[in-house]
Amino acid sequence: MTKKLLILLPEANIHKIKIGNFRKSFREAPLTATTLAALVPEDLDIDISIIDESIQKIPFDKTYDIVAISIITGTSTRGYELADYYRKKGATVIMGGVHVKLRPEEAAQYADSIVIGFAEHSWPELLRDYMQGQLKPKYENLKKSFDIMPSPRRDLQKNSGYSIPNTVNATRGCKGSCDFCAVDAAKFGWQTREIDSIIEEIKKIPAKRIVFNDVSMGEDMVYFKALLRAMIPLKKKWGGLVSTRVFQDPETLDLLQKSGCSYLLIGFESLNDISLTNMNKGFNRFDEYKILIEQLRSINVILMACFIFGFDEDTLDVFENTVSFVKEYKVNIPRYAIYTPFPGTKSYKRFSEQGRILHNKWEYYDTQHVVFQPKNMTVEQLDDGFKKAYKDTFTIGSSFARTVTSGKNFSLTFGGNLAYRIYLKRLYAEQNRIYKP
Ligand code: SF4
Repeated sequence: MTKKLLILLPEANIHKIKIGNFRKSFREAPLTATTLAALVPEDLDIDISIIDESIQKIPFDKTYDIVAISIITGTSTRGYELADYYRKKGATVIMGGVHVKLRPEEAAQYADSIVIGFAEHSWPELLRDYMQGQLKPKYENLKKSFDIMPSPRRDLQKNSGYSIPNTVNATRGCKGSCDFCAVDAAKFGWQTREIDSIIEEIKKIPAKRIVFNDVSMGEDMVYFKALLRAMIPLKKKWGGLVSTRVFQDPETLDLLQKSGCSYLLIGFESLNDISLTNMNKGFNRFDEYKILIEQLRSINVILMACFIFGFDEDTLDVFENTVSFVKEYKVNIPRYAIYTPFPGTKSYKRFSEQGRILHNKWEYYDTQHVVFQPKNMTVEQLDDGFKKAYKDTFTIGSSFARTVTSGKNFSLTFGGNLAYRIYLKRLYAEQNRIYKP
């Protein structure tokens, strides 16, 4: 008998518009659910549905035999709620994702089986075991096997829900070790896909614009430059995440331009070199930011730069100083976050030892809420400063000034600034932003 499988990504609040039944995410489409769908062995009699709760309502009137829920820390509480719900309805619940890798014993309480690590081998094996009534409580695979990844089942994805629906993976993991980063804590290592197979996959995507959904695609410059060279004949427009390290190579700018790069998301994190060193991101240097901004502008690449508030060196003037920098240098699409010590990270360990972790309400661990005691300000001052930074940055005048500097990529910058103006309203409307245990 056909088994009904639901692959579910629980709701992630950030970067989302929700008006009645209308839901849209400012983000590019995630690849988790569509890739898991593609990994379902064809010979198994399984009917697959996928739901990304950030952009779709869950059809609670439908029943499923298996529900696979992928969680990151910020979505884990909601994921556990949904797991309880579906188990009560008689479904077999599987949980996987970064948070399961970081907190396997916790996740196991809510699931019939957990998947730790990469799904390429363990997910098909799990489904075969399930079909034979031999499901194991845990599947673990950390073997590097990125190359056997099939093309995601983009046909199951609701394209209209995403700002950019056509996403591709080229690399996995990161070689860095930033003290707050869940990618580092999960010890995913660094993997790359065969460039030929990426190019073949991109050729099949009819859209002009694609995004690489990788956390840091330039960790291996020989690979990165080869990928960019291979992109040139495709004449696509693309965006992705890189670290500032890629600009140490003199060929980078030229290849970014020739390969059709239209935007880059880069973690600037802080304007303070001591904070950068302390978080293990000493390869970022404040005095190089200005040069980088000008270089990207010279090749018409939009800069989305992330800044984090709440480092131990931050004092109350950090908010105004950062906003002034963003305005003066017209960072096209700035993005602010609150320092978040994800479980398993070096910063979580340090704050725990210092008694500075406020609670483990994981739904607050989304980089938009304060979950630890800052050093040089109160929790409330950090939250207020963060909100005010958004407010002062995304004024109409300031957004316009950043937009006009982006030349032919005007519409993308305009869309990004508009999205954050909408997000700002949600930030100020949100009740109980600080959880008091
Ligand atoms: S460079 Fe980015 S992905 Fe890599 S460890 Fe640092 S924050 Fe994480």
